[in-house]
Amino acid sequence: MSRRRLLPILAAVAVTAACGGDSSGPPSPEPYDFELIQAYDSAGFRVDTLPFHWPQGMVPLKIWVENSAGLPGHVSAAIALWRDAFRQGEWNAVLTTDSTVADIIVRRLPIAAPMGRPAIRLAAQGLFCEGVTLIDTVGTRFELRVPVQVRVYDLPAAPDPAACLAQVTAHELGHALGILQHSPFDEDLMYAVPTATAPSDRDLATARHAYHVPPALVPVRP
Ligand SMILES: [Zn+2]
Repeated sequence: MSRRRLLPILAAVAVTAACGGDSSGPPSPEPYDFELIQAYDSAGFRVDTLPFHWPQGMVPLKIWVENSAGLPGHVSAAIALWRDAFRQGEWNAVLTTDSTVADIIVRRLPIAAPMGRPAIRLAAQGLFCEGVTLIDTVGTRFELRVPVQVRVYDLPAAPDPAACLAQVTAHELGHALGILQHSPFDEDLMYAVPTATAPSDRDLATARHAYHVPPALVPVRP
């Protein structure tokens, strides 16, 4: 494990002190690990754990959504679910009709479809839908290629395609905002095989935590 792993821990300690003033409500649940786990082998096999959140200057993020199977509505609903985590507007997103300026692209495509470039795949599987967020770190390990690609897909047997697409869309948006691992708790939306349809308090606490840790990944546009 590299010494980078220490950085988020030290930063988290600092932030707990800095953010302590506004916690007048009930205590937040303990967040789970959200950092990107990235294997690399330039000097023998190693693993990095890299925190990420979008820089304030890019917020609200611009999301281009394929107009298929009600996806724009699902993405708008998912934005509203996650935005609730951020009391000070640290994260927000809007839909854009111009894919060339998008920070995130959401398409309805089989996740097995060719993707062009190698990327780390954060995949989720519901009973009737699948989703994946492709994290492309451009070979330097510390640059995140923008736009981030999200794919969601309803399986042919889905009895309620709208409900399952809404669920996996909300899950993948959690990845796209910076939760780059899965929750170990099966009641959370960010569990790898989720049954929840909305972020739990622990999912929201984890998203907030991600925005209070200095990021190790920087978004770059080719
Ligand atoms: Zn996932």
